[in-house]
Amino acid sequence: MDKATSRLSPPETPRSFGFYVDGRYIDAGNREMAVRNSPGHGVPVTKLVKCTPADVDMAVASARKAFDDRRWSGLSGADRAAVLLKAAEVLRERAEEVAYWETLENGKPISQARAEVGGCVGMFEYAAGLARSLHGDTFNNTGDGAMALVTREPVGVVGVITPWNFPFLILCERVPYILASGNTMVAKPSEVTSATTLLLAEILTEAGLPQGVFNVVTGAGSTVGQAMLEHMQIDMLSFTGSTAVGRAVVEAAGKSNFKKLGLELGGKNPQIVFADADLEDAADGVAFGIAFNTGQCCVSGSRLIVERSIADKFGKLVADKLAKARIGDPLDETTQIGAITTDAQNSTILHYIAKGQDEGATLMSGGTAPDHGGGQFIEPTVFTDVTPDMAIAREEIFGPVLTILPFDTMEEAIAMANDTEYGLAASVWSKNIDKAMTVSRQVQAGRFWVNTTLAGGPEIPIGGFKASGWGREAGIYGVEEYTQVKSVFIEFGKRDHWIS
Ligand code: NAD
Repeated sequence: MDKATSRLSPPETPRSFGFYVDGRYIDAGNREMAVRNSPGHGVPVTKLVKCTPADVDMAVASARKAFDDRRWSGLSGADRAAVLLKAAEVLRERAEEVAYWETLENGKPISQARAEVGGCVGMFEYAAGLARSLHGDTFNNTGDGAMALVTREPVGVVGVITPWNFPFLILCERVPYILASGNTMVAKPSEVTSATTLLLAEILTEAGLPQGVFNVVTGAGSTVGQAMLEHMQIDMLSFTGSTAVGRAVVEAAGKSNFKKLGLELGGKNPQIVFADADLEDAADGVAFGIAFNTGQCCVSGSRLIVERSIADKFGKLVADKLAKARIGDPLDETTQIGAITTDAQNSTILHYIAKGQDEGATLMSGGTAPDHGGGQFIEPTVFTDVTPDMAIAREEIFGPVLTILPFDTMEEAIAMANDTEYGLAASVWSKNIDKAMTVSRQVQAGRFWVNTTLAGGPEIPIGGFKASGWGREAGIYGVEEYTQVKSVFIEFGKRDHWIS
């Protein structure tokens, strides 16, 4: 913080973190350290341990012991809820700290980081209620002298591997729900955005989570992440990231212990706009859907599928909106669009912007990389004259690049929306309930929005159809995902003998 002006600024020296096992930080010792530069400022902000596969073994052993001795799973739901509620309280107290480090490592605007952390508080509070209400089932239709119970047991040791686009939000869409039923955990954040996962470990310990229930290993996906995929003592793995690595996750599970998997992968999400929509609202929503988090959002609405009669007018409305969005220093309170998180992603987005033009699409607006000091920024970009076969219309760009595809009939719009390997999210904009509901029923997506986009909450499940993933996170669905069902058949009274 620059005290003279009370504007936030990057730290003068990078903050060093250890990794977190058994309720405490482990120093780097002679391990290598990685230095993370703020993508919004180009200066070093954090130093993180490059853990080794042996460190993964240590973290998993800690989680295994904590699970097997039932220090967490053996508690009542009420006792687990008390810890989750306390975690919400501590997180609320430390929210500004979490938002600051999230912005520094990720490049997202500080106002957005604060809102995300606020949302995470709600997830801990909501999951606390689920810890208390989670229950099984009974069958008393088994005849006199018998009864069956169906119980929900925690899966065991859960590994969570997260990406860099929403390091804290994606973590908190999983952790409280995973903890609610009594699992223990090892989390591996992206190597470029690890700080806030370590802050969560501190917060959970401060809230009274028993030692060893939540452990964090930092480092590269190819070493630390891969060791987790192959680990025989991890019972379930929640992976959020690219579809390419998702395939490696499935393969490794098959070659190791058939660990249960949750996969949240890529998307190429349609926004269908009918001529009868409130076009001002729809333009604002479409602009938000593609530029929020600089389009580095698995659920970004990157394919605008718009009724032909309004396509030109509507494209201009969206481009005008985007031109007014404030890009710049992520630590500036007024910034709406921050930095591109990694150098590699910056190159990928610029590559797709060039490729779109090479393929014959027309760059309607944006497309440049403005200079806002030491960071890396890309203007929201809109392409017209796009055909469905172009790479910019088919491949996940993971940046603020919108393609416009016109349609003539509702059936055509639905077919275009479904013409993708992905099925993560979709929106429809229409004031006609028949059209909106028909489209919502027929578009293949795990999350669907009517006259809005990127909306949700702690109660609402998230996840994808098709190549966008397996399973669901958040809400009661997210708690049940991390349990296994056990049936218990009980007989009472005298047994009817098989051998007399
Ligand atoms: P990524 O797949 O490169 O990395 C994600 C995580 O996996 C990181 O922690 C990384 O270190 C780790 N990893 C990489 N290689 C690994 C390996 N061989 N074994 C184990 N772990 C490994 O993805 P990213 O670039 O961080 O994120 C962008 C991608 O994530 C996009 O495709 C996006 O759509 C997807 N994503 C999906 C969701 C969702 O909810 N569906 C949310 C956010 C991001």
